[in-house]
Amino acid sequence: MSAHLTIGILNGDDIGLEIVPAAVEVVKAAAAQTGLNIDWRPMPLGRTALDTHGSTFPEGTIEALQKMDGFILGPIGHQAYPKVAGAINPHPILRKRFNLFANVRPTRSFPGLGAIYDDIDLVIVRENNEGFQPDRNVVAGSGEFRPTEDMTISVRVISRLGSSRVARAAFEIAQQRKKRLTVVHKNTVFKLGCGMFVEECYRVAKEFPDVAVNEVIVDTMAMRLIRDPQSFDVVVTTNMFGDILTDEAAGLVGGLGMAPGLCIGEGAIAMAQATHGSAPDIAGKGIANPYAMIESARMLIEWLGHNREIAQAVEASRIMDAAIAAALANPATRTKDIRGTGGTADMTRGILDAMKLKS
Ligand code: ATP
Ligand code: MG
Repeated sequence: MSAHLTIGILNGDDIGLEIVPAAVEVVKAAAAQTGLNIDWRPMPLGRTALDTHGSTFPEGTIEALQKMDGFILGPIGHQAYPKVAGAINPHPILRKRFNLFANVRPTRSFPGLGAIYDDIDLVIVRENNEGFQPDRNVVAGSGEFRPTEDMTISVRVISRLGSSRVARAAFEIAQQRKKRLTVVHKNTVFKLGCGMFVEECYRVAKEFPDVAVNEVIVDTMAMRLIRDPQSFDVVVTTNMFGDILTDEAAGLVGGLGMAPGLCIGEGAIAMAQATHGSAPDIAGKGIANPYAMIESARMLIEWLGHNREIAQAVEASRIMDAAIAAALANPATRTKDIRGTGGTADMTRGILDAMKLKS
């Protein structure tokens, strides 16, 4: 395969304007070391695009992204979008248009960050397109309803297809790791919905006889993540449970700045997206922790490397991995939320310097 990739850059809002450029800089430096050629395509998205293009998600962006191998999506501050035409939350559109049904969210400890645990290494794979936020184009009439002024009905969609494909994505990851997968659900109460999810997980398990499967009920999982997070390796769960458990897991290793993510599907395109939001309270101060965004971008490069069999991309990801760990080991090159003394730029510089030392 040719060592050439086209990657979109969507800065998003608030701290996105600081951490996405940091992530791009780190990937650029690693790619330069391995001879990986990346064609970067910055695109308008978010509040700044509302001024320049009349929409937070300008027309043409989807079409442009279709021609790419992947993209980096910064956090979107959609809660702060003005109530005007053109203020659109791009998340659901992007996830559904590119069929990014699996949200891969690793939780990894690094020593010295003042986190609750120093020895966690697990991955939560969260279903990304169904649950309480299903695709309204596919599931007619789904979402929330208010039949009377005093009552709301929220509908959760679980399908065999949605469940089996996220399960397969999780099994594939488990196979590359410790060959253990935990299915998290609540089929004791949601007998039909979670019941179907669990059934599909076991159906897919037959394709992966070398992976050991166990089940944990979601409330027990919330407790066990605190008590014995080391006993988990790969976890698969439905949309909302996954959303909550990944923030909980992030809290154990240093907070939201330590929570990266990659959205993948069956298609050839993947999206790097940190778990955290746009953190308007700390935006523009140069103090945002860029780890989650940089690591999300590294995951994208690694995924593309494996998916397209591009050795230079796999090697670039390995170089980034080592440099990120080196920067995190030094208080001067990590941010204050993880017991550092530096800012966003110091941490980014620390990672870039660590790469230079290695070469
Ligand atoms: P969303 O609804 O978009 O998920 P949220 O309300 O969950 O947003 P976030 O923007 O994720 O909120 O952030 C919550 C708080 O966590 C922020 O106010 C900020 O203090 C902290 N935080 C989030 N991301 C980072 C980061 N990268 N570095 C440092 N602190 C962060
Ligand atoms: Mg949040």
